[in-house]
Amino acid sequence: MSDPLAPGAAIGILGGGQLGRMLALAAARLGLRAHIYDPAAASGPAAQVADSATTAAWDDAAALDAFAASVDVITYEFENIPTGTLDRLGAARQIRPGRRALEVSQDRLTEKRFLRDLGLATAPFAPIDGPGDLDGALAETGVPAILKTRRFGYDGKGQARIADPDVAEAALASLQGAAAIAEGHVAFEREVSVIGARGLDGAIACFDPGENVHEGGILRTTTIPARLSVAQRTDAVLLTGKILNALDYIGVLGVELFVTPGGLIVNEIAPRVHNSGHWTQNGCTICQFEQHIRAVAGWPLGDGTRHSDVTMENLIGDDMDRLAGLRSEPATALHLYGKAETRPGRKMGHVNRITGPAG
Ligand code: AMP
Repeated sequence: MSDPLAPGAAIGILGGGQLGRMLALAAARLGLRAHIYDPAAASGPAAQVADSATTAAWDDAAALDAFAASVDVITYEFENIPTGTLDRLGAARQIRPGRRALEVSQDRLTEKRFLRDLGLATAPFAPIDGPGDLDGALAETGVPAILKTRRFGYDGKGQARIADPDVAEAALASLQGAAAIAEGHVAFEREVSVIGARGLDGAIACFDPGENVHEGGILRTTTIPARLSVAQRTDAVLLTGKILNALDYIGVLGVELFVTPGGLIVNEIAPRVHNSGHWTQNGCTICQFEQHIRAVAGWPLGDGTRHSDVTMENLIGDDMDRLAGLRSEPATALHLYGKAETRPGRKMGHVNRITGPAG
């Protein structure tokens, strides 16, 4: 498919969580239909608002074939989709963003090497395939360090901190034999992220960098604008463009950065719409979800300029107890994900508060 999708065309979305929900809502607004594929129950956040949903395992060949046949193009809301699933779907339909972006971001070691080869700064890192690699890896990264599983980590999961060398073996044991990398601890001043988009025609549009605060490895707030110098802001946007071009990317990508006195350090990239881009729903004319759907549909990108300063706050677990109060704040934009059950650490929704005109 290279012609822009026409009204009524269908976008297949792999994954049925809140990101899929907000992508489906954006697609609907543009006159496109969303078909969700997720192995979990068909009443999840995305399926509730989509045109159709398939509940089937990632290796259900018949379900995958029927899904591919029912859509015009396929995208995804999370990066850990099994390779076999991608092979099968990719034979039938274009998957956007493409395989390279997934290969790079599914494995922290591949990701770090990709970034380093692009000439971008990362934390010092070294692979750890077993206890015998530990000493050599820590010599490379220094201590304190963080061990991270190479695959399937998110929201701080699959990570163990090493504050001093005595706890290194126990930290590695806590990862239960998973292939890992060690990363040197970065003494950052703040964390920021850039949400960038690249269209089918190679055009790039980046949203303004947001400043992120994490608690327990989970994003708590994003504040726009981030406290960055003009040079840092330019650098952040340019390096995002470099990553997008190197991956021949189509869609929205999140780039998480550490700000240090020596410059910007890339922490990780996410080949999808990103929690730290939720502020764009109320701070920009074209939000990250619409931007992603536009790119995947082969439409021109929208203008990512922000009209307002915004603070986004995630509603996690018990934060839902504050719902009555939040509902009665007249200028607070509430976004709830339709999750039936509140659990500790579970992202239930977010709020966007406009803090003023774009400054
Ligand atoms: P990640 O899953 O890699 O995004 O890590 C989650 C959070 O842990 C980051 O947003 C940082 O707050 C912190 N973190 C991860 N890696 C490092 C590092 N090398 N140095 C300092 N803090 C880190």
